[in-house]
Amino acid sequence: MSRAIYPGSFDPVTNGHLDVIERARKLFDEVIVAVAHNDEKEALFTLQERLDLLQETVGKIDNVRIAQFEGLLVEFAMEQKARAVIRGLRAVSDFEFEFQMALMNRKLETGVETIFLMPKEEYTYLSSRIIKEIARLGGDISGFVPACVAKALRRKFNP
Ligand code: ADP
Repeated sequence: MSRAIYPGSFDPVTNGHLDVIERARKLFDEVIVAVAHNDEKEALFTLQERLDLLQETVGKIDNVRIAQFEGLLVEFAMEQKARAVIRGLRAVSDFEFEFQMALMNRKLETGVETIFLMPKEEYTYLSSRIIKEIARLGGDISGFVPACVAKALRRKFNP
């Protein structure tokens, strides 16, 4: 069985992430969307909220599983018997960091390869960070995130 891990903060999940998940699940028997909880401090949504929003969005897809992990990604990948890590590449600006991470992960664990997927062009400018910024300023983000995320963002900023 071919299995891939798609790791990230998912704070919150956007249509860009969904595009990558859709592409990845066509290439692998199973895709594990793995929410990192190392950078909890900086997150707008708690780990549980991020997991719940993912569950509501992609939880019903039969070859997609949602998980959380702490510590080294490559160790988690080996534990889950996943041979691939999926990352999304939006622009050249993503490249340097991703390139460094991919090579470091390969150094740490030769059994895990990183695979980059490019989203549909219209998602290349989309990031969780920019979505949070627009939502905080009262802009309409409904075209960029699943409905449950738009609702959760409205609740965060207009309690
Ligand atoms: P991280 O904090 O690890 O960057 P993110 O949740 O921001 O986590 O993103 C997880 C992965 O999804 C990263 O590989 C990121 O490049 C990718 N990604 C995020 N937004 C998009 C998008 N709009 N299109 C394609 N890939 C994306």
